[in-house]
Amino acid sequence: MVEEDTSLGCTGRLAAVNKWCLPGVEPCLECRLGGGAPWLVYPCVDLSGLPPHELRKLKDPWPVPFEEFSRRRELVRPLAPSWALLEPGTQFGPCTGKGFGSFGALFMQDSAALFLRREVLEALRAEGLRGLQACPVDVRFRGANPPELLELQLELHGRLHPTGLAPVRSGPCSTCGRRSEDWPQHIILDAASLPQDVDVFRHSEGWATLIVTERFVDTVKRLGLDGVMFGELEVR
Ligand SMILES: [Zn+2]
Repeated sequence: MVEEDTSLGCTGRLAAVNKWCLPGVEPCLECRLGGGAPWLVYPCVDLSGLPPHELRKLKDPWPVPFEEFSRRRELVRPLAPSWALLEPGTQFGPCTGKGFGSFGALFMQDSAALFLRREVLEALRAEGLRGLQACPVDVRFRGANPPELLELQLELHGRLHPTGLAPVRSGPCSTCGRRSEDWPQHIILDAASLPQDVDVFRHSEGWATLIVTERFVDTVKRLGLDGVMFGELEVR
């Protein structure tokens, strides 16, 4: 698991959001689930070819009825990777806004997105790390020597192991198809669900959890890259 480095020295912050988004949904009349989550991000998805009146709507996260959410999702789906999960609150396109402070080699903010400098991306690829797809941010940095930051577009992999503290789930709602879930305090990953050819990914069930392989951690440490911290996850 990879986390933001909150120690002194890494003061970089982004006041930026991804360019487009799917809206949240109004609470379902049957199950009361609603809203949206900002964790699913596809920075390399370019929606700019959609009609301008739709693009205006795709900048607005305000909750809409489920039918309107579905309609917008179908507009976006052909432009997103086939594996992409498209849920209320999903974000697309370059992270856009302003940047402040000093950034490490790698950078995380709010745990859900992982950024890195271009030369770091190239170094990690040269070391043989796999599954590193990234797109440049559209951020104006204050100060000299602005970093050339890219945001990783992360695939979704990994399931919770069925034993131990797996979440309690309801069945999917018959109206909206969503289900309520509790995320365990202690995560145990199902070894069989982990990808063989990707060294960094988002947990397919807990979207705010970014997971890297031991190979990724070893490479980052060997190259002396700063900006993030790693925590171990149990795999069974
Ligand atoms: Zn529902």
